[in-house]
Amino acid sequence: MGKSVVAIVKGAKDPGEEEIAALVRKAIELAGGLADIISRGDTVLINPNLVIPQSPETGATTDPRVCQAIADMVKEIGARPIIAESSAVGIDTEEAFRATGYTKLREKGYEVIDLKKEKTTKVPIPKGKSVKELSLPRPVVEAKAIISVPAMKTHDQALVTLSLKNTKGLLPDTFKRKFHTTFGIYQGVADLCTVFRPALAVVDGIIAQEGLGPMFGTPVEMDLIIAGKDPVAVDAITSMVMGFGPQEDGVIDAAARLGVGTADPDKIEVVGETISSVQRRFKRAEEAVFELVTIPKGFQLIFDERTCTGCRRNVLSVLVDLKEQGKLDRAAGLTVVAGKAERLPDVDREHLVLVGNCLAKFREYATFVPGCTPNNRDIIAGILGEESKVMYTARGGAEKNSEPPQ
Ligand code: SF4
Repeated sequence: MGKSVVAIVKGAKDPGEEEIAALVRKAIELAGGLADIISRGDTVLINPNLVIPQSPETGATTDPRVCQAIADMVKEIGARPIIAESSAVGIDTEEAFRATGYTKLREKGYEVIDLKKEKTTKVPIPKGKSVKELSLPRPVVEAKAIISVPAMKTHDQALVTLSLKNTKGLLPDTFKRKFHTTFGIYQGVADLCTVFRPALAVVDGIIAQEGLGPMFGTPVEMDLIIAGKDPVAVDAITSMVMGFGPQEDGVIDAAARLGVGTADPDKIEVVGETISSVQRRFKRAEEAVFELVTIPKGFQLIFDERTCTGCRRNVLSVLVDLKEQGKLDRAAGLTVVAGKAERLPDVDREHLVLVGNCLAKFREYATFVPGCTPNNRDIIAGILGEESKVMYTARGGAEKNSEPPQ
């Protein structure tokens, strides 16, 4: 089998609409063009990352000019492009369309649809390790090809979020939640991509985002478009451009293991720019938090792959809140756990704080902060041992149970 081809194209600083269109065209042509994946009359679903209503200048969302350029290339073949997205759980996708400039594309005659409003169909995932069946919006199921167009970002949970992770934006909200609580985000996305594998990945690296991605990081101007027909290879090479290992991210690793594509640089041909000529080390999410706060002595934070963005974000932002309140030193010696842990860490119960309903089965063993997502006020109360709806079982609350449940 031949190598997977990944094209890296770099533009001038602050490119305009025409320059972006030229960059996208060049990257797709270097990656082998569209003719072998799209035919006249096909419906092609173009999926940007519009996780929240934030302008592409923040690096959090895909620039509409990138999707417009792809849609124009699809139209030239005689196929029908549909730009489609379902924003994060609880976010109005139409509001995201307005904030990111996609309503303007609609006004120009491009088809832009909110997948949250579409009827769904059940689809089996026969090769899925954790997902066996999904309900997906009909336009996703009926599309002849999916083009994933992520923004180039770090992620507080999955290290990076690129073309594979972006496919989570094809899911209805109920399944987005299940990917965190039940399936596991790494395996869930890899399983989804065994059936809905993007035929083309085009990474919008014009304005990328580092640090507290996928929503609250710092924009970084890269002026890059990275494209290819093997989404695993595209994500692996983009990860390397961002200063990570090709398979360091859990989603890329799970997808490579399932045979969705290759993350092995020896099996990937990079065309256009070299990795080293455009590489920049991106700040990781936890580095950004730890730059803002000095972690007190003996404090530990334990997340796993099933800890949702909500719990992660709130626990991390609580550390910043506590610093601002001058109370961060009171977290010294505590271990804070969030996610769907099966077992608790080997820490004495007086120094353990369990955050979120996923840990409710341990509620009588240690301090437990209820909620899904738990709010900052209650997490702060849990850490400080102050009054709220938090249960202080281990620190003198009414309910006593000295053995951790299994
Ligand atoms: S409790 Fe936290 S980790 Fe669990 S489902 Fe809710 S937000 Fe996600």
